[in-house]
Amino acid sequence: MSDKRILIIGSVAIDSIETPFGKRNSILGGSATYSSISASFFNKDVNIVAVVGRDFPKAHTSLLARRGIGLDGLEVADGKTFRWKGNYRYDLNSPRTIYTHLNVFKDFKPFVPAGLRNCPYVFLANIDPDLQDEVLSQVKGPKLVLCDTMNFWIQSKRKSLLKLMKKVDMFLMNEGEARLLSGETNLIKCAKFAMSKGARSVIIKKGEHGVLFFSKRFNCAVPAYLLETIRDPTGAGDSFAGGMMGYLSYKRKASERNLRKSLVYGSIMASFAVEDFSVRRLLGLKRRDVERRYNRFLDTTRF
Ligand code: AMP
Repeated sequence: MSDKRILIIGSVAIDSIETPFGKRNSILGGSATYSSISASFFNKDVNIVAVVGRDFPKAHTSLLARRGIGLDGLEVADGKTFRWKGNYRYDLNSPRTIYTHLNVFKDFKPFVPAGLRNCPYVFLANIDPDLQDEVLSQVKGPKLVLCDTMNFWIQSKRKSLLKLMKKVDMFLMNEGEARLLSGETNLIKCAKFAMSKGARSVIIKKGEHGVLFFSKRFNCAVPAYLLETIRDPTGAGDSFAGGMMGYLSYKRKASERNLRKSLVYGSIMASFAVEDFSVRRLLGLKRRDVERRYNRFLDTTRF
């Protein structure tokens, strides 16, 4: 049996969120949190590298452990956990960041435990690109590297991000971030820009309008799952990436067919994540719920 372990570096956070449908303070969030839980529906060997502060509730750590997420790389440091506050208006695609408190991430020196240094699947979830790079440099010969980012890092660490882009197989951004990074308006041009900087393929998330995939081999567009109830879009991108990586690791081969299907599974996981605040909806899911929605998705997109 070939190795299908996944390693994820990203934020584990305490979020405060306001959407037109409600408001929550100090709830579990973070890119590594959403993506690891989402990936765990496809792969039972998902591990994270991240840091939290002493204030991080034990209940959150237990929740991740119960989900089977490997926490050997989760450091508990003196100081406060990363905190993010976001506010969404009726256009749910892009939040307004009220604050980003990096806290313990400011001095974090990521350390990949020896047993995880040969993980074949690596997801560099949204966090400081220098930390993403440090983790990647500790991993030996990964088979597939997916990298996500956001406007915060494009603005503050552009140089580091461009350096990192050369080392990844798939680079993920939302449409606003793709435009910010490239200075282009057209999304095909945005993707070409990222590929000219070394990314081997580019995925552009368009929220409720789906996702675009670009590579030298093929391009494709996948719509979002038709969803009537959205309560909190936070974590959609991370859940998408986790689902995609989970599916690709489960199939063990990034063929065109598997890549196309992974985009659909990613969209399905994102559609669940936004139905409730924090990771509530994801935690209540069974794998058969994912399959049911996948089949309904095929039905609504068949011509
Ligand atoms: P998304 O999937 O893009 O909605 O990501 C949502 C998560 O990203 C939230 O739970 C936040 O805690 C986390 N987040 C927000 N800003 C940052 C940042 N600058 N770096 C890393 N994670 C962040």
